[in-house]
Amino acid sequence: MESQVLVHPDELSEDWIKQAKENRIDVIGIHPVGGYRACMSLKDLLEKFNDHKFTALIDYALTNNVKIEYEMHAATYLMPRELFDAHPEYFRIDETGKRNNDKNFCVSNAEALSIVSKSAVELASKLYKSTDRYYFWMDDVKNKRCLCDNCKELSMSDQQMIYVNAILKQIQKSNPNAKMAYLAYFDCIEPPKKIKPINGVFFEYAPMEKYTLNLEDQLRTGVDETLNIPKLFSMFSKRNSKVLEYWLDNSMYSGWKKPEKKFVPDEVMIREDIDKYHKLGFEYISSFASYLGPEYMRLHGKPDISPFYNSINSYKEK
Ligand SMILES: [Zn+2]
Repeated sequence: MESQVLVHPDELSEDWIKQAKENRIDVIGIHPVGGYRACMSLKDLLEKFNDHKFTALIDYALTNNVKIEYEMHAATYLMPRELFDAHPEYFRIDETGKRNNDKNFCVSNAEALSIVSKSAVELASKLYKSTDRYYFWMDDVKNKRCLCDNCKELSMSDQQMIYVNAILKQIQKSNPNAKMAYLAYFDCIEPPKKIKPINGVFFEYAPMEKYTLNLEDQLRTGVDETLNIPKLFSMFSKRNSKVLEYWLDNSMYSGWKKPEKKFVPDEVMIREDIDKYHKLGFEYISSFASYLGPEYMRLHGKPDISPFYNSINSYKEK
């Protein structure tokens, strides 16, 4: 079983790397902030690769056997919104029947897919010393699929699957070992029905709405994980199957607003969840762990994330 914590680019620190090494956390994921700022924060991350201090930290992680991955919402970055004037057909048709460049794009437009795949190849080549696992999620929104004649019968999950398959196929031309995540999140929490994943796709289960919706709304909007997880496993391979949890997401517990609140892990929930995910067959267990970086340490000292690695390590020993 592999483990990972996900931090914001400016939170990567020697302390984090030491903590990962000492506690057998295999991977640190670097996650540019999502939400409406996702495209800008992805561009900022790419800028950071010119900063020697940042790449030196990544080298330091690798020499300590801590791997580095990059996970981000990327659809807007890969399909530049400025193309709308010349090529509205690249963009989605919204609920009012109009082309709209607000989020995502039309996955049935071959040219649009080709532009997106080419920029994805370029983006993959820029990610400093990444593993072969890529995470170029679609935009961080719900209910923003394309409703054109060719797309309207495709759920958001199917639309994401077309996108992931197309870009992975291009990346595999230069890196046959490349793998890519299908993000089971928001309206993609159920697997695709019409489009099958190509070789190298794995699924990443990110049940955010378990935390942000009450139970009634969860059931109404189909967030029932006792149903969804088996469905996901019937469509995707077990290999690399991943959970992306929120147990250590101090940005969420701080209301996505600085200053960081003091973090207290919910030990029982973490242990029970990891136990459950392990039984279900997940191979890779991860949690957002932002707002626990150097600024947090100055305010509150070293955060306690021991319930996370202790639970996972107990399975590694078996
Ligand atoms: Zn479309």
